[in-house]
Amino acid sequence: MEALDGNGAAGKLSEVFAVDVTSARGRCDSCGNVAQLGEAVVYMNAPGLVIRCRACEGVLLVLVSGDRMRRLTVRGMSWLELA
Ligand SMILES: [Zn+2]
Repeated sequence: MEALDGNGAAGKLSEVFAVDVTSARGRCDSCGNVAQLGEAVVYMNAPGLVIRCRACEGVLLVLVSGDRMRRLTVRGMSWLELA
């Protein structure tokens, strides 16, 4: 499956967040790397949107969309800093 950089997730994430999350900084819970989400590795249909840490490939965020809901998992991040 082809991976994109984190900016490829901007459209899908704008369905959930009112701000541009790709410019937000997050800390990977697996390796401690701190980076903007736009610098991460994105798989658009994995299924759903999966964002992985560029340093260790740990899963940072998963967004699955259904007919009437969206489920967001951010368990792979210690924190997410929105400007
Ligand atoms: Zn990591």
